[in-house]
Amino acid sequence: MSHPKYAVFTMDVEAFSHTECVRNAEYDADADLMDGFDAYIRILEDNGIKSTLFTVGTLAPKIADRLHRCMKNGHRLALHSYDHIAPMEQTPEVFRAQTRKAKQALSRQFNTPVVGYRAPCFSMDARRLEILRELGFHYDSSHLDFLPASHTVKLDLSSFRKLRDGIFRKDGFYEFGLAKQRLLGFDLPISGGGYVRLGKWDVMKGLIRRHIHTCDYYVFYLHPFELTMEAVPKIKGLKFYDRLYLHAGIKSYAGKIRQIIEMLRRNGFQFVTFEELTEILNRETSPQ
Ligand SMILES: [Zn+2]
Repeated sequence: MSHPKYAVFTMDVEAFSHTECVRNAEYDADADLMDGFDAYIRILEDNGIKSTLFTVGTLAPKIADRLHRCMKNGHRLALHSYDHIAPMEQTPEVFRAQTRKAKQALSRQFNTPVVGYRAPCFSMDARRLEILRELGFHYDSSHLDFLPASHTVKLDLSSFRKLRDGIFRKDGFYEFGLAKQRLLGFDLPISGGGYVRLGKWDVMKGLIRRHIHTCDYYVFYLHPFELTMEAVPKIKGLKFYDRLYLHAGIKSYAGKIRQIIEMLRRNGFQFVTFEELTEILNRETSPQ
């Protein structure tokens, strides 16, 4: 019997002001660009897909109506840090205290278990992963195995067992990695975000197709501003790449996401939340 194939659609639910290259910048607008969140949910719901929404703790009360509505429709809530500070910028003890506080607040406010975590900037190490397990999380999804930002370290998963490409397990705790493909000697992330939005679409599409044909797990992620129809604030003094990251490819991203969903569907992928996937994998791996 062939192995079931799983696709997980996620969002890092954060305000525009949380974006790494914007954090210390001054700009006039008070834009949260949350219409991009609504646009993403619309694409998913048009396709009958439930998502995992990794949400910044301090943002959640400000968008509570949106989140409540999503949860009523079967989407799941997970944590994207207390206030979008990269975990590797914090001591392990500060990370523990803030994460515990945010997990409790989120789960109390929305009356739901919060068992998943994704680190800002994919900034995670084995020690902080262990803290997540101790705090009662069932999984993390910060493994990119690619070093794009200064807060990102290579996550040591040597004590984990690899279940599939991108999925690792240790003592009932899962690490769900994001996908990459090799092109001309370079690794390119193909799980969404800025990489898929800014990369030449024919090339990215080809790499995603190759992944879909050879792997049985795919995860997609992005941020609300990446689908906004509002004007993204112009910020002075940004580097060329950061300017590109904030402004390019936004209007055409929705169409690309729909194409990715279609490719996955044609190739027999089932769409699940990470919460569902951990339960499926628990059943597969637990002795009868
Ligand atoms: Zn983030």
